[in-house]
Amino acid sequence: MAFTLPPLPYAHDALEPVISKETMSYHYDKHHQTYVDNLNKAVAAAGVEGQSFDELFSKISTLPAAVRNNAGGVWNHTFFWEGFAPQGQGGEPSAELAAAIDADLGGMDAFKEAFVNAGLGRFGSGWSWLIVQDGKLKVVSTPNQDNPLMDIAEEKGAPLLVADVWEHAYYLQYQNRRADFLKDFWSIVNWNKVSELYAAAKA
Ligand code: MN
Repeated sequence: MAFTLPPLPYAHDALEPVISKETMSYHYDKHHQTYVDNLNKAVAAAGVEGQSFDELFSKISTLPAAVRNNAGGVWNHTFFWEGFAPQGQGGEPSAELAAAIDADLGGMDAFKEAFVNAGLGRFGSGWSWLIVQDGKLKVVSTPNQDNPLMDIAEEKGAPLLVADVWEHAYYLQYQNRRADFLKDFWSIVNWNKVSELYAAAKA
């Protein structure tokens, strides 16, 4: 069964002003769709059609770069969109998650600083992640379309939240100001979703 573009969990303009309707139409309708189309070609060429993301990621080091780049491209973007809610609708971290942010990351301010710095420190294109690794929260970044579920990841874990720091994620609105995008990012985070993922990862 071929991969398809998952529906956006909200309208194209739902994340304004942080992610404009125009940015969304390029990022979701064009970029994300292209990763889906190219993933279907790549898995066919590699003879690994019909496999799940988990299956592909667990052996991604043995597969062609086109599978790695496009499988990551599809999964990472789907996860990125799921991590957001319209401003004012994302709730707050659960008590359990807030306690872990304090204990493992030195508090919410220190966490946000580490997450933003992971994105700013990623030269070129990549992603900034909050993950659960060995039962603890950790902030990591990956290059290109890699993610912490891949066997080649330097830092592996269960993703809770991600920021896309490819220029296409913010350039129409923020141009070269990646830091401003990452500062505004927090106002659309879906903490209800992040909290659910944290509870699942700890279970
Ligand atoms: Mn992107």
